[in-house]
Amino acid sequence: MLHIENLSHVYPNGTRALDSVSLQVPPGMFGLLGPNGAGKSSLMRSIATLQTPTSGTIRFGDIDVLADPEALRRTLGYLPQDFGVYPRVSAYEMLDHIAVLKGYAASGERRTVVEALLNQVNLWPVRHKALAGFSGGMRQRFGIAQALIGQPRLVIVDEPTAGLDPEESNRFLNLLAEIAESTVVILSTHIVQDVANLCPRTAMLVGGKIVRVGAPLDLIGEL
Ligand code: ADP
Ligand code: ADP
Repeated sequence: MLHIENLSHVYPNGTRALDSVSLQVPPGMFGLLGPNGAGKSSLMRSIATLQTPTSGTIRFGDIDVLADPEALRRTLGYLPQDFGVYPRVSAYEMLDHIAVLKGYAASGERRTVVEALLNQVNLWPVRHKALAGFSGGMRQRFGIAQALIGQPRLVIVDEPTAGLDPEESNRFLNLLAEIAESTVVILSTHIVQDVANLCPRTAMLVGGKIVRVGAPLDLIGEL
């Protein structure tokens, strides 16, 4: 369970991106819906410990996230909105490399982890292809595989369907739903359809404030 209380963030230029946000996120898939500029990325980056909010608290299980960001990072998978890839490296090589960084020292164990992830995200057939040649959908599925190394208990995905065609979007969202069977998955998006079928609980963020939490179809009037 993720508990956020009275989280506010004011950027140095005076922009108040988050205004006393309080939110409880249970296990499973949770949607964060809001128009551009609502504060979604600011909230995702705060939870992911990439920026320190001006005030408030974030707890995940027994981790006090702002006091001990390292503890959260050990159990976090984060797929940012625009993540870069090394173009000439293959999917297999990159995942193997990240597995090393995450502490999988033994090559046999790494092989097991990397092969399982490549199968899970359906990239096994293209595992030796350079990332530069990946389509948008393949890239996002690679991104989620990358985020899942180390078995995170909290997975944050920021605007993942931008630029994907409807079929790839659905494929990606269904993959998230599978992942959410065993973790907390927060999906941030400005697209109602992204959360409509998969996120029974969705929070609506507007102007840095949570205006409602409920089933996506009940929130549409707020957009
Ligand atoms: P969203 O992800 O919902 O589009 P953001 O969190 O990116 O919203 O932005 C919320 C508000 O904060 C916007 O008004 C945006 O322009 C502003 N903002 C975001 N990042 C910064 C920054 N680094 N400095 C100043 N203002 C920012
Ligand atoms: P998003 O849709 O994720 O909010 P943005 O286009 O708002 O993306 O922001 C892209 C990058 O620019 C982010 O790193 C954000 O922090 C920064 N940014 C956004 N708005 C501002 C702003 N008004 N001043 C400075 N940096 C900003």
